[in-house]
Amino acid sequence: MKEAGMDCPGGHGKMVLRRAKKRMTFRGVKIIVPVEQYICAACGVEAGTVNQAARIQKTIADAYRKAVNLLAGEEIIEKRKRLNLKPA
Ligand SMILES: [Zn+2]
Repeated sequence: MKEAGMDCPGGHGKMVLRRAKKRMTFRGVKIIVPVEQYICAACGVEAGTVNQAARIQKTIADAYRKAVNLLAGEEIIEKRKRLNLKPA
């Protein structure tokens, strides 16, 4: 489904769709989240539709899960190293 587009709340007309990667800290874990938002070329205000906000929430949750799993994996590798075990 195509987004209908948004107008700038500051009255600058149509906003442009922008994809970006945002760094953020979620529950103490640093993650990078790809986001899709509308931005006004005139004043730089950012806005997202409800659909975009929902997608971002899901993306944040996924990125957080991945980051936590990665950390857990690294911990296991470190422990193996310390115990002088070869990776399975
Ligand atoms: Zn504007």
